[in-house]
Amino acid sequence: MRIVLLGAPGSGKGTQSQSLVKAYGVPQISTGDLLREAVAAGTALGLRAKSAMDAGKLVDDETVLGMIRERLSQADTANGFILDGFPRNIAQADALQTVLREIGKPLEAVVLLNLDLGILFKRLTGRRICQECGQVFNIYTSPPDSAQHRAANGHEPRLIQRPDDREDVIGKRLEVYDAQTKPLIQYYKDAGLLRVVDADASMDAVFASIQRAVA
Ligand code: AMP
Repeated sequence: MRIVLLGAPGSGKGTQSQSLVKAYGVPQISTGDLLREAVAAGTALGLRAKSAMDAGKLVDDETVLGMIRERLSQADTANGFILDGFPRNIAQADALQTVLREIGKPLEAVVLLNLDLGILFKRLTGRRICQECGQVFNIYTSPPDSAQHRAANGHEPRLIQRPDDREDVIGKRLEVYDAQTKPLIQYYKDAGLLRVVDADASMDAVFASIQRAVA
């Protein structure tokens, strides 16, 4: 399986990637996660990326492409990968095509998680992450059950909000998606790779649609 999950921030790319990892045994490659790790570790790359991330803008292509090339060269991608949050613009999509052609592993499908703007906004403003274990919740639609969380994980849910999930930054991220990432829908339609999935459904229903789309 060699796929891209395409969709606006909050469309469920990360959540669905995790289900795909379990079902197909191929790694999720999330440029957002890789960048957040670099920021947390205080590396030079992380320091370079932080201000763009905090402002809801894209990190420069050179930084992101360097990271992706390095990640795609690792052995665990031999049987495929799920790209989550990459590519984010046409230049990145062109570069990805070149890299994958070089290694003889072209994309099989690009799955668009399609969701209304109003729903995206609610998902993003409500998103919280347990600081201890990384589990994702939504204070409106899927708040944590303390007792259940304690039983399963051995700690209380300790919820934090991603700095770029604040309301003022979300507007910017959605604007950036519209201007820079949305053109990829036509790009991959023209390439015959696009599959559209309705992401306004339960996690399991969306997962089933993705499975049908890539079958
Ligand atoms: P995400 O977790 O995918 O929403 O990404 C969080 C932030 O990381 C984005 O708002 C960007 O600042 C940065 N980022 C993630 N992926 C990319 C990418 N492919 N190109 C540029 N910036 C990215």
